[in-house]
Amino acid sequence: MRVLIISDIHANLNALEAVLAATEKFDAAWCLGDLVGYGPDPNECVERVRSLPGLQCLVGNHDKAALGEIDLNAFNPDARAAVSWTQNALSPSTREYLQNLPEAIEMGKYTLVHGSPRQPVWEYILDARTALLCFPYFATSYCLIGHTHSPMIFSQEAEGGECKEKKPRNGERLILDNLRYIINSGSVGQPRDGNPEASYAVLDFGAAVWELRRVPYDVTATQLRMAGFDMPERLIARLTYGW
Ligand code: ZN
Repeated sequence: MRVLIISDIHANLNALEAVLAATEKFDAAWCLGDLVGYGPDPNECVERVRSLPGLQCLVGNHDKAALGEIDLNAFNPDARAAVSWTQNALSPSTREYLQNLPEAIEMGKYTLVHGSPRQPVWEYILDARTALLCFPYFATSYCLIGHTHSPMIFSQEAEGGECKEKKPRNGERLILDNLRYIINSGSVGQPRDGNPEASYAVLDFGAAVWELRRVPYDVTATQLRMAGFDMPERLIARLTYGW
């Protein structure tokens, strides 16, 4: 079974479509949250994700914010403006779909969360120190996360042992062996690792091989749509650079 792993689409339909066009046929899609927020096409992105085969989908902090379930003061001014815009843009059917998404899912050897296994919606795992503290909080061998918008692989050899981190490159494969892993496949719609290309992963479930993918998309087209809605300039500009 081939699984498409996507996260943090953030209402960027051009990026999502580029990912889907670039990926060979897959049997299931695991979407790790933040379908909306920041970008100009929240309803279209949710609809597209819902059409994917074998879908497992989580809620993220921006999805919850768009539903009014999180205090807007928890966001910086630009993000707050984007959340307000999204709140007004959501259709009733999108709202209903987002409201029913879970915060965590287990699929065989994989635990899926948006942020971290100990705080599924909010915690950022940005470094090995934080990842080390999170390993005891999931029961499966591997944990798949999003939220930071930067692809990263954290590994631990033995319980309580040292945690290593590695930034994977486009096309890099990881054979999921006896180590425990926390793996972030980056963001489809708003990468923040200095590379503007959409970031995602493909998992060969049977062989347990994970592969990072990067794909360029029409950034300008997304930016023009955002400008048309008077979205914050900083949020528009960051897509060019991937920060
Ligand atoms: Zn996000």
